[in-house]
Amino acid sequence: MALITTPATVLKTYEYSETSKILRLLTRDHGLCSAIAKGARRPKSRFSGLLEPFTDGIATYYAREGRELHTLSGFELRRERQALGRELVRFAGAGLLTEIVLRFAPSAPDHELFRQLGRGLDRLLENGGDAEAMILEESWRLISQLGFAPSIDHCAGCGTVPPSDQTAHFDLAGGTLVCARCRRERRLRNLLELKPQARAELKTLIAGRGENGRTLVLSRFQRHLLRDFIAYHLADQRPLNSFRFLDERLG
Ligand SMILES: [Zn+2]
Repeated sequence: MALITTPATVLKTYEYSETSKILRLLTRDHGLCSAIAKGARRPKSRFSGLLEPFTDGIATYYAREGRELHTLSGFELRRERQALGRELVRFAGAGLLTEIVLRFAPSAPDHELFRQLGRGLDRLLENGGDAEAMILEESWRLISQLGFAPSIDHCAGCGTVPPSDQTAHFDLAGGTLVCARCRRERRLRNLLELKPQARAELKTLIAGRGENGRTLVLSRFQRHLLRDFIAYHLADQRPLNSFRFLDERLG
């Protein structure tokens, strides 16, 4: 049994028994991990109020070789982000960022992914302006860091660059652009029409320059494109739960 201390972000918590909690953590040094916080639901617990989703801290836990569930022994608070709960769109967005990490992060540690998640959550917490643009941009940023960035500059079939003033198609399952000719010849399924404005906007979202205050012209389209891309490309055709919550908030 090893005692491990590492910076960590709480992604999700589950109640366990009358008094305990199970945490899903993204740790900086050991990737995704699950830990039980015994007694955390008791009012006088030393963990009381600390172990909420989106919180950063230094986690200390006992790790057993070959076991999936570790035992939390300490959590030193670094940053709580409870204020995200005051605005439901931002809260839903934070839920989406953590769900992406929870579902698709590799078991190996990724320092940059850990930093990006923290920065994304802070951005939602601190910056005014259009929350939806930030949520989509930070989601694409995580997806790129995870190695699944879509390619929308040229056609995956023949390599041509469709003119920027022409409608192209996006292959949701492949995560690539398809020109009109290849679309006719290859009879691909799950293609999404990408009009010039939609393509240009998607490009800036994926490039992720982090301009706060930017608003999206095609916000609903871009949100559903991200939802469907994740579903078809990464998640066995099932949309992530967070999108349902986000859709309820944004329509
Ligand atoms: Zn082509």
